[in-house]
Amino acid sequence: MKKIAVYPGSFDPVTNGHIDIIKRSISLFEKLIIAVNANPNPAKPYLFSAEERVEMIREALPSSPKIEVESFKGLLVHYARKKGANFIIRGLRALSDFEYEFQMYLMNKKLNPDLEMIYFMTSQQYSHLSSSVIKEIAKLGGSTINFVPPVVEKKLLEKFGY
Ligand code: ADP
Repeated sequence: MKKIAVYPGSFDPVTNGHIDIIKRSISLFEKLIIAVNANPNPAKPYLFSAEERVEMIREALPSSPKIEVESFKGLLVHYARKKGANFIIRGLRALSDFEYEFQMYLMNKKLNPDLEMIYFMTSQQYSHLSSSVIKEIAKLGGSTINFVPPVVEKKLLEKFGY
């Protein structure tokens, strides 16, 4: 069976921490689908549209026939089935990520027991990095160049008008 993985997330915006997970996981699979969540999230509205988030990831990654980037709506397990994926990838930064990820794991397993979820520990240099922190820095006029791909830094500058 072909090993196909989905790496789902908000990616609002993609950071060097996400890119690190993508680069570390790509060799394990025949295909890696980076799936940008396009479900509305009123509790945490997105800064960037799904199209912008997809575009930034595409620009940040070297083009590879193994990598696909697109947005999805609806349940992750349904999307994964549609794409023929048998693995889901997630990243873990701190203990605080664990509770949420564990809950999602248990629920996804109930919804589709055949879908295996794989967790990557963050690399030490990215353990402090989150999209929320990046947006906060950019909003307050700080430089994000060391934390995000150049295309994202440019988009953040445009967004916040610096
Ligand atoms: P979501 O809103 O679905 O959690 P995110 O874009 O915040 O989407 O994150 C997508 C995945 O990437 C999550 O599993 C998250 O834990 C992981 N992740 C985010 N930032 C990092 C990082 N710096 N190091 C490792 N994993 C990360």
